[in-house]
Amino acid sequence: MAETQNKTYEFKAEVKELLNILVHSLYTNREIFLRELISNASDALDKLRFQSTKGVELADKNLPHEIKISMDAENKILTVSDTGIGMTDEEIIKNIGTIAKSGSAEFIKQVTENQESASNIIGKFGVGFYSVFMVADKVVITSKSYKADASPVKWTSDGLGSYTLETPEGEVKRGTSIEIHLKEDAKEFTEKFRLENVIKTHSNFIQFPIYVEDEKVNNISALWREPKSKIKKEEYTEFYKFLSYDTEEPLHTIHVSVDAPIQFTSLMFIPGKNSDFFGSQREDYGLDLYVRRVLIQHKNKDLLPEYLSFVKGVVESEDLPLNISRETLQENAIFNKISNSVTSQVLNHLKKIAEDETETYKKFWIEHGKIFKIGYGDFTNREKFMELLRFNSSEMKDAEEITSLEDYTKRMKSEQKDIYYVFGSSRDAVMLDPHMEIFRKKGIEVLFFYDPADEFVISSLGTYKEFNFKSVEQADLKKLEEFENVSKDQEKKEALDEADEKTFGDLLSKIKEILGDKVTDVKVSQRLDKSPACLVNPDDSMSSSMQKIMQIMNKDASVPKKSMEINKDHKLVRNLLKVFKADNNDNYITEVVEQLYDTSLLLEGYLNDPHKLVSRINAMMEESSDWYTEVKKI
Ligand code: ADP
Ligand code: MG
Repeated sequence: MAETQNKTYEFKAEVKELLNILVHSLYTNREIFLRELISNASDALDKLRFQSTKGVELADKNLPHEIKISMDAENKILTVSDTGIGMTDEEIIKNIGTIAKSGSAEFIKQVTENQESASNIIGKFGVGFYSVFMVADKVVITSKSYKADASPVKWTSDGLGSYTLETPEGEVKRGTSIEIHLKEDAKEFTEKFRLENVIKTHSNFIQFPIYVEDEKVNNISALWREPKSKIKKEEYTEFYKFLSYDTEEPLHTIHVSVDAPIQFTSLMFIPGKNSDFFGSQREDYGLDLYVRRVLIQHKNKDLLPEYLSFVKGVVESEDLPLNISRETLQENAIFNKISNSVTSQVLNHLKKIAEDETETYKKFWIEHGKIFKIGYGDFTNREKFMELLRFNSSEMKDAEEITSLEDYTKRMKSEQKDIYYVFGSSRDAVMLDPHMEIFRKKGIEVLFFYDPADEFVISSLGTYKEFNFKSVEQADLKKLEEFENVSKDQEKKEALDEADEKTFGDLLSKIKEILGDKVTDVKVSQRLDKSPACLVNPDDSMSSSMQKIMQIMNKDASVPKKSMEINKDHKLVRNLLKVFKADNNDNYITEVVEQLYDTSLLLEGYLNDPHKLVSRINAMMEESSDWYTEVKKI
């Protein structure tokens, strides 16, 4: 201990940078520094309680578990103390002098760019303590660890670049006391009324009593333990805000108490907004796990599968052993049963929302659908998971409307065996996809995928009930042809006579000759209606979108070879046949065929060089403008 006496230490670079931002910024919401200090005090008390359940001998073991706040208005000093786990000199250097968690760099970037929101996100990054320097020009921490033989330590800093450590004078009891020397413009934080307000707003549900000058200010009650009938909606909302740092009310609340076979209570919330700021949520999720009133783990990540990680809340059980260690939780049979049950509760609840509150479910899907979709790997809950999936489709009136797979199958043709889907960047894009034409003609619904993950999810699932998933390109056209046409506007074009039929075969060969080995094959299309031509993957190979994903993964920039399909009834193709009959070497045929190939590539997203396409279009427009003026006699 002696070697740390009156020693000065430099903060680590990232801490300095963070402090520099905090010290020199004027935040609208500076009061949250108190929330952060109280939350640290509460964590310290939770950790202490956890140690004592393990039978560890505690220093000053008769001290009550509490948080105390005192003020000295004259000297502008505010003190926040707790009787928690405390820190040794080594711990204080490690915990307060460095930023342990990843994401601090991201945090600094975010705060620099957007100072308004800093106070909302500060607690999420494990940098909460430093927020005290928004209001302080000097901070003195005195701490004594719960470990029986630990010596107390005093830490002092002005938050600029360094801090000093020394041995405090006088007797120090277990816990941590933080003396805050307030800046001139922050002296409001010595006013009792102001402090009480801040605590009620941000820290009301802290599970230990908070005293301001010996008066208890917070509620302490564990809301989840109270009977549902007694809880008001505002109380749920208040608790949710406390838990999540969200400023809005939750989309839905799930509060369930189970007695048999295992006793546990869960209080969970579905946030109204997806709070995944730049991916930080990856760490910042999980449910708080209590065993008989003791917080065993803050943000436990195994009670719910990752795809439900948007859920915030608390789970408490009487049936888990108090001395359970966090490391062995997952091997505990009771814990696993609770976790399965909690997962079912969330899924069942979502199902109920989907059934009873379509609009709310839609909101849920917009906010959390992206993360929810990764649940395709949860085989235990496969059925429930699939019932909860939603997609836009050709039967929906706009891009916002969504359908379940169940409703899709209800609208299916009686002979239909497959669920069809198409991938594209937007509703407009998939509507223009030539592969959609036969489906439109036959009135067969197609699911629209805008997120590349959708196809992945669907391929992993394989089937829904007895139906297979098929991309529109992989559809069996012979089967599709058997369905009756629904759209009336297209009478069949007059069939070609025998001689023309033969010449058409020659035209196809000519087209193949023009395109060479850019295509595998040129044939008559069964699927096209309004478009003259399209590119198709050779039979039974993967869908184009899947192929594209694979190519990106393999860093392969080549244009895949496909088969070209020609719409024999299309006006352009019929005219091409006329030209071909007059002169089978007319250069116009080459121009048109190359243009058709390039536009197909463009639609498929493979056109690497648009220049040729553009100059060809321009040349053709120029020519057609001559004919236009001639015909119109302009
Ligand atoms: P976080 O609470 O997210 O870890 P903070 O910046 O708020 O980040 O605190 C950093 C660390 O300092 C805590 O993890 C804890 O180890 C330690 N600490 C802060 N306040 C206290 C306290 N009152 N008692 C014991 N340890 C504390
Ligand atoms: Mg903290």
